[in-house]
Amino acid sequence: MAKKATRVQKSGRRTAKRKSPTSKPRSRQAKARTPRKLVCFFGDGKADGDRTMKDFLGGKGAGLAEMTNAGLPVPPGFTISTAVCNLYYERKGKLPATIDAEIAVNLKKLEKSAQAALGDARNPLLVSVRSGAKFSMPGMMDTILNLGLNDKTVEGLKARTSNGRFAFDSYRRFIQMFGNVVLEIPKDAFEHEFDGVKREQGAAQDTDLTEKGLREVVTRYKALVRQRTGKAFPEDPRAQLAMSRDAVFRSWNNPRAKEYRRIYDIPDHIGTAVNVQMMVFGNTGERSATGVGFTRNPATGEHEFYGEFLVNAQGEDVVAGIRTPQPIHELEAHMPHAYRQLRAITTRLERNYKDVQDFEFTIQDDRLFMLQTRSGKRTGYAAVMIATDMVAEKLVTPKEALLLVDPEALSQLLAPGFDPEEWAREPIIAKGLPASPGAASGQVVFTADDAVEWSNQGKKVILVRKETVPDDIHGMHVAQGILTATGGMTSHAAVVGRQMGKPSIVGAGSLQIDEKAKRFVVDGREVKEGEYVSFDGLTGEVKLARVASKPSEILQVVNGELEAGRSDIYQRVSKLLQWADKHRRLGIRANADLPDQAALAYEFGARGIGLCRTEHMFFGEDRLPIVQRMILAENDADRRKAVLELLPMQRSDFYGVFKAMRGSPVTIRTIDPPLHEFLPKREDLMVEVAVLEATGGDARTLEEKRRLLARVEQLHEFNPMLGHRGVRLGITFPEITEMQTRAIIEAACQLAKEGQKVIPEIMIPLVGHVREFRDQKAVVDRVAAEAMKGQGVKVKYLVGTMIEVPRGALTAGEIAREAQFFSFGTNDLTQMGFGFSRDDVGKFLRVYQDKKILDRDPFASIDVDGIGELVEIAVTRGREARPDIKLGICGEHGGDPASIHFFEKVGLDYVSASPYRIPVARLAAAQAALSVRVGD
Ligand code: PEP
Ligand code: MG
Repeated sequence: MAKKATRVQKSGRRTAKRKSPTSKPRSRQAKARTPRKLVCFFGDGKADGDRTMKDFLGGKGAGLAEMTNAGLPVPPGFTISTAVCNLYYERKGKLPATIDAEIAVNLKKLEKSAQAALGDARNPLLVSVRSGAKFSMPGMMDTILNLGLNDKTVEGLKARTSNGRFAFDSYRRFIQMFGNVVLEIPKDAFEHEFDGVKREQGAAQDTDLTEKGLREVVTRYKALVRQRTGKAFPEDPRAQLAMSRDAVFRSWNNPRAKEYRRIYDIPDHIGTAVNVQMMVFGNTGERSATGVGFTRNPATGEHEFYGEFLVNAQGEDVVAGIRTPQPIHELEAHMPHAYRQLRAITTRLERNYKDVQDFEFTIQDDRLFMLQTRSGKRTGYAAVMIATDMVAEKLVTPKEALLLVDPEALSQLLAPGFDPEEWAREPIIAKGLPASPGAASGQVVFTADDAVEWSNQGKKVILVRKETVPDDIHGMHVAQGILTATGGMTSHAAVVGRQMGKPSIVGAGSLQIDEKAKRFVVDGREVKEGEYVSFDGLTGEVKLARVASKPSEILQVVNGELEAGRSDIYQRVSKLLQWADKHRRLGIRANADLPDQAALAYEFGARGIGLCRTEHMFFGEDRLPIVQRMILAENDADRRKAVLELLPMQRSDFYGVFKAMRGSPVTIRTIDPPLHEFLPKREDLMVEVAVLEATGGDARTLEEKRRLLARVEQLHEFNPMLGHRGVRLGITFPEITEMQTRAIIEAACQLAKEGQKVIPEIMIPLVGHVREFRDQKAVVDRVAAEAMKGQGVKVKYLVGTMIEVPRGALTAGEIAREAQFFSFGTNDLTQMGFGFSRDDVGKFLRVYQDKKILDRDPFASIDVDGIGELVEIAVTRGREARPDIKLGICGEHGGDPASIHFFEKVGLDYVSASPYRIPVARLAAAQAALSVRVGD
């Protein structure tokens, strides 16, 4: 057992989720080579590394090695591995001498290959020093170009190129970059000096500055360095190199890189590599250029050569936006030979990697050099277009295509989107947890009732609450989106938001909400009811503006508003998911409570309901008063009467859900939440009673309210999540379990009589002790027998339990002897395993993540080492006791790709996710079955 657990923990950890909307899984699973050296050379057609070594060499280093091995024109260089970065941090910035020695050996090789030497006054070698982690983090870390220049080598460069302007322009760029990145002098200070010289020399453009002007810039830059650092600019190229290497390592932990890793779930411990490479120059004149591109359009997926370039420019000019680059196809007219070669090389790279390539190149005096190739980031839309196109082109097989799409891309495709330009115009005012994707824009309201009233008037509203409660469901339903200040990824707002497919952001802690005064304050601004707010549930960004959005085309087809044949993207997604279904082992079910949700889930491909939360059916306007009567009843007879009133309603709900599932299994859970959730709030009642008392209000009303308040007080719990809920309710009020069983079985019998197959699975929640289960199973079996007898038909049903209390997981062997199935309630298992309240975790989770106590939100992605271990123990013990036990998961993790990989590995039978996550789950399950590490 222990041995097996270790295996799963390890492999589970390896499945680390990346949720970048534009990232994608690796297309091939080549086995990584084990490196011996810590610094790897590439040049002259041969490299120490290759493409499999992304962990060690970073994406850029592995790509450079691969291109070198393939005989492509790559300037020589060497990669200082990520292992050195980790050493740098472990040893607090002091690298062992052996690393310097390895670098020196590689530098020698590089000098030989480049036929130039670092610091040689007559024939100087210049290098670039660039970051490159395993996962690309565009623009987050630092780069230094033209390293090796000093007062002597710059003259050598001038002599060799017969171009003094070029030499001094390169020198001033180097001092500026080095000064900024290594010496941490703000860019503005350099720009101030540069603009001063331009003004004095009457230069309108940067390019108007002559060699003389640039020499003056260099002089001023050096004075600036001395003034800011108290030291002269380092003239020794080896010192420049060591300092730059260390600065790039440090840039791994700059605030923007850290934030980027947090957003995209990139582990902090992997570190960056540093690539030191011979400089080639795109700025030697009109026969030189530099550019970037993609083999296909990364936004639309269109099969077109896509990118841009600048003539007579260096790499950073393209990104700096000072000059407007030209579209890449115009390169053909300028430099036809280099253009054709670039097209041929990039096409070959795409074929070789079987994926879209994002490349960088430089043309120096008509000679093309490749500086980078890597899998291109793309939008969710482009990911689907490209994967399906590549199959049609026979470039990849359907199985390989499955690995080209990040499952989250499908979630993006279901969400309404903002017009990107309009969205970009507005500033971000707050950020929260991205609980449910999609673009939402509307007027702020603070109560569920207001949401309903305003939307009845035809207004689009955003429901802003400190947190939501089940009572708010009607408001949530009509709102464009839900925004809360507290709560985590499995708080009520998050779970319900996802289930409804409603854009939601939770835990936006900077919002100070005053629900009574109907206003919130954020960033010093007051926002009142009726003002416009827009947010993106995919990124968690909130803006104070009205931004237009459009509904997803796929959803329009699923809802029958658009013909499938008229939506290209719908057809492609369907095709991709059909391929996924062929390769997955895990069954896919849905968490759905109502017939229309079940029908939607079926359309999305769910074949079964994994969790029907019956209490959600109690909140209807026509039902709540009956439920309240049931709770307030002072004797058994009154309670039974109220319960029986609910019976026909529940029966028709279950009938609808069974019917929508067309014969697939339906797991229905008996009531779970504490009863006081169905009653008015204690504080509100206290106020009402006080007002009635003070104003001498109607005596009967006062009496009723007092009675209600007394019952609410009686039911009040200090910790309702650990209180009188779940199986504990069924045990103390067996009539509720009886009614629910009767409703389930009678609905099933009715369908059986109509000739439809039904597979009801009755699930008892929150079981921690086998005797709790036994008690409820006896009730279920007794009532089921009675109901079938009454109906005159027999239906096969199962009785099982949720495993969501740690004791339940540990005693799963005993429980399995009685229970026919387990469904892991990983929300509660995480809550009780960690002892973190689901609804309060948002208050401290961010700090936990910032302090690296937790890498990820354990409510969003399963904690493999702890909660996963509990799951695995229960799987093992459950199967030992009952080999054919059905095992599923219905916590929110059922829709999370990284968690799905774990559930595949522990061998569950199915995952159950909210309807809008079904496509994601189908694809993730296929990728898990193909044993691919998503995001690799
Ligand atoms: C769970 O705990 O994982 C679960 C599915 O139940 P609920 O979220 O309703 O508590
Ligand atoms: Mg639960």
